[in-house]
Amino acid sequence: MFETLSERLGGVFDRLTKQGALSEDDVRTALREVRVALLEADVSLPVARQFIKAVEKKATGASVTKSVTPGQQVVKIVHDELIAVLAGEGDPGSLRIDTPPAPILMVGLQGGGKTTTTAKLAKRLKERQNKKVLMASLDVNRPAAMEQLAILGTQIGVDTLPIVKGEDPVSIAKRAKTQAGLGGYDVYMLDTAGRLSIDEELMAQVEAVRDVVTPRETLLVVDGLTGQDAVHTAENFDTRIGISGVVLTRMDGDGRGGAALSMRAITGKPIRFVGLGEKMDALETFEPDRVAGRILG
Ligand code: GDP
Repeated sequence: MFETLSERLGGVFDRLTKQGALSEDDVRTALREVRVALLEADVSLPVARQFIKAVEKKATGASVTKSVTPGQQVVKIVHDELIAVLAGEGDPGSLRIDTPPAPILMVGLQGGGKTTTTAKLAKRLKERQNKKVLMASLDVNRPAAMEQLAILGTQIGVDTLPIVKGEDPVSIAKRAKTQAGLGGYDVYMLDTAGRLSIDEELMAQVEAVRDVVTPRETLLVVDGLTGQDAVHTAENFDTRIGISGVVLTRMDGDGRGGAALSMRAITGKPIRFVGLGEKMDALETFEPDRVAGRILG
């Protein structure tokens, strides 16, 4: 995640910090290079523009250029601005699941990593917060997806709602809700069906499920490798369903990370977790300060 960007920015800032005295023009030239690096990392144009504008405003003042360590000050301003562009409110990894049984709705396109992430998150809640979790698959069109969740459940020691053939998604959601209450579960997670692209049927189905359970969290799971498309998908789901956060998957394969940098600025929704592999432990919270530190090396 972010290797390419980190390398590019490292080069720019190395030169800047080694230079000693800096004129406003030096700073502007460096920021132009930062802008190119951001665009090459697939950060959306308006976000890159706004970012550079904000940094330039703070970094070209006399207090910076006339300071003893101007280069380092510019790096610090970029660091703080990165955090500002990434951060949502509160702790990204803490989910609103205080009143049991708390429903978590998992939404997204097919192949984005929804089922895998549902299981990863369930495992995390079980192991780190000692929560009793029930998972249910609503993907009635793909029996293999329902089986997949059941298999993952067995693997991680988390219960799944028994599969009943012929049931529709809303009925499954109702059954999960009842079962979660009766069974003393803290959390129940609904793995909704995905499709290859956003269509009316998918959205109507997710909406109907949402209205039945009133989720405490609605997490969009989206493939980070798809870059700007991931951001558009999030905009679409948020407009129609309302999401409380994003999980970006396959970030283990993404050296650019542009989707991660544009997501919050464009959709207004924070990235809560990132998927970093296929294994059940390969899920990390997305901490803006740590991410900014990683990008700036
Ligand atoms: P769904 O259709 O959205 O439910 O997608 P799946 O959960 O079935 O995931 C599709 C494929 O992506 C599977 O082979 C997963 O193992 C893989 N996958 C999911 N998340 C990640 C991730 O963070 N990194 C990598 N490398 N693969 C992932």
